[in-house]
Amino acid sequence: MRATFDASLWFPKDNFFASRLVKAPTELTPSTNLYSSFVGDARPNRVFGSQVTIVGDAAHAHGDAFAAGGSLALDDSLALGLAFKEVFSSSKATFSNENINKAFGLYSQTRQPHTARLLGIVRSQIDKKGTIFATHEEEVALVARMTGRPSTEWLLEHGVEAAFTAVVERLEGAQRHALPARKQREMERFSSKEASCRIDLLIALMSI
Ligand SMILES: Cc1cc2nc3c(=O)[nH]c(=O)nc-3n(C[C@H](O)[C@H](O)[C@H](O)COP(=O)(O)OP(=O)(O)OC[C@H]3O[C@@H](n4cnc5c(N)ncnc54)[C@H](O)[C@@H]3O)c2cc1C
Repeated sequence: MRATFDASLWFPKDNFFASRLVKAPTELTPSTNLYSSFVGDARPNRVFGSQVTIVGDAAHAHGDAFAAGGSLALDDSLALGLAFKEVFSSSKATFSNENINKAFGLYSQTRQPHTARLLGIVRSQIDKKGTIFATHEEEVALVARMTGRPSTEWLLEHGVEAAFTAVVERLEGAQRHALPARKQREMERFSSKEASCRIDLLIALMSI
């Protein structure tokens, strides 16, 4: 139903989806609601307070462009799962507001730039549309417009795990940078001690 409504905006009026054949049944069923294809704004982040976040269309409704909303919603869920795993996999991690907020922050930073880019593209395309392609010249213009569309490889081939790892690494790097030099030396001493313990253990195991 929604596709029908959308089609009348996006396609020529004689397009199959905008035709009487498809429209007539919707007009015969008064209980059918037709919704316009909503394109939301890119939110700066998706965390509300410390305990609420949003995924899927609620976070980035983009009017079904590129038929990607379903996979984006699944990618959001994957990123949220990775964030929970990152924060709560340690047995010492408590279910505190601070930790929940940290997980939501990781999730939001992983996904927000990706969907903001998509919303930017969709909005710029909406601003351009409005032409009804009926004559040959207009058809040529339509073909040119379709072939000149921005590549969607970045959207469809996006790796959520890689984006998530980049966010974690960036935040850890910033945190290390913020540590006083004394604390950094202590941490380096600790990790080299830990490495030498691991090597001792390996040698001991190999000699059994
Ligand atoms: C015509 C059309 C074609 C599409 N084609 C594609 C496609 O080919 N590929 C693709 O990837 N995506 C496609 N999409 C987009 C995709 O369907 C959506 O992006 C995706 O379903 C979003 O998932 P979601 O879980 O965020 O939201 P939804 O699937 O909308 O789920 C939200 C749920 O919340 C429920 N709800 C709402 N309010 C309340 C409330 N107050 N209390 C309790 N429950 C509530 C709703 O009933 C609904 O079940 C298409 C969308 C449309 C409309």
